[in-house]
Amino acid sequence: MLFMRDGGVSQKGAEPMAQDVSRTVEAFPIDLVVDLVNEWGTVPRAVAGESDEAYPTLAEFIAAHPALRAVGSPHAEGDLVAAADRLHPVFAAADAASTAALLNELVDDAALALRLEAGGETSELALVHAAWRQAGDASGSTRVLGSAVVALVDWLRDEPDADRLGICEGDACADVYVDASPAGRRRFCSLTCQNRVRTRAYRAQQRAAATRS
Ligand SMILES: [Zn+2]
Repeated sequence: MLFMRDGGVSQKGAEPMAQDVSRTVEAFPIDLVVDLVNEWGTVPRAVAGESDEAYPTLAEFIAAHPALRAVGSPHAEGDLVAAADRLHPVFAAADAASTAALLNELVDDAALALRLEAGGETSELALVHAAWRQAGDASGSTRVLGSAVVALVDWLRDEPDADRLGICEGDACADVYVDASPAGRRRFCSLTCQNRVRTRAYRAQQRAAATRS
């Protein structure tokens, strides 16, 4: 029995080797996550009637979002589409429980693990900090997904209101947004969508008034 246990210990000893080839997952800026979903996601493109239009070029997108380089570039177009399509439902989630469940799934799917590490960027030797890790050989879409998921987890840690991750209520728009406003009542991806809906509501009101008079 003792011998078996020793065998178990030596197996355990192999784990740090596996960790050595893992990579630290840096969070994307949150606006990168939003643009990723809106520019590459299948649903936002379809609802806007843009399914047949070209994606942004990778060079353009990386120029607008240099943090994408941290996950290794260039990416295949399909990597960004795959990550965007996994992320869109998080913004569409009906309630906080669904948001949490979807993000838990994505943490698993991106093979993210939270690890505590000593030291850090400062010279303070006593520091311990938490870092998200992922297999060093994770696929392109998994690396993109990982950095996006960590961004959302960080964002929710600062602002744990799931309603602030949303889908635009504009006409023919399923773009996502994060609401960082003090009031937290955002419903549109952009002023363009907001103005369009308000104009339509105003005209409907005018028509109704004209009919009545
Ligand atoms: Zn919109």
